[in-house]
Amino acid sequence: MIQKQIKAAIRDIPDFPKPGIIFKDITPILKDAALCENIVNAFIEELGDTRIDAVAGVESRGFLFGLTLATKLGVPFIPVRKAGKLPHTVKQKVYELEYGTATIELHTDAFKPGAHILIHDDLLATGGTVMATSELIKDMGGVIAGFSFVVGLGFLKGREKISPICDKVIILAN
Ligand code: 5GP
Repeated sequence: MIQKQIKAAIRDIPDFPKPGIIFKDITPILKDAALCENIVNAFIEELGDTRIDAVAGVESRGFLFGLTLATKLGVPFIPVRKAGKLPHTVKQKVYELEYGTATIELHTDAFKPGAHILIHDDLLATGGTVMATSELIKDMGGVIAGFSFVVGLGFLKGREKISPICDKVIILAN
């Protein structure tokens, strides 16, 4: 049901941001308040009684449902940002991209060691971004409670990559 609604709302944009890539545009979802509410409720239902002490959302589309989800769970939201964006003391992780590298950062006081963190992003592709996020969180003493995504690109096998870290992987639409 929710999968059907999400798939119907998502728009495929060919050749964005570069030729040969079909970009899944999630912005039409944001125009539908009832669907947004259903998405957050579906995450909550799938999480069940999983212990979540904070939700870490990946810049930038991971902020959209990440904050709403954290607020509804009654826990803090942690922004995971690209290098140079966070103003306070940070810890960073450099990770490999297809061409070159990328860097993500977290504030050093983002959470207390031992906190159970749910990592959230809008879309799971290769899994590289959330993999790096999970490594950074673990380096800082956090426990990975799970991963949540609105959409997954199944053919890129991201789930297979991240499920050894934590088998709680929620993907609402594949
Ligand atoms: P991964 O690291 O899993 O290969 O890529 C996932 C990251 O890239 C996420 O932060 C996601 O927002 C972004 N991303 C990659 N492809 C798409 C796409 O087609 N649509 C959207 N909305 N985000 C994408």
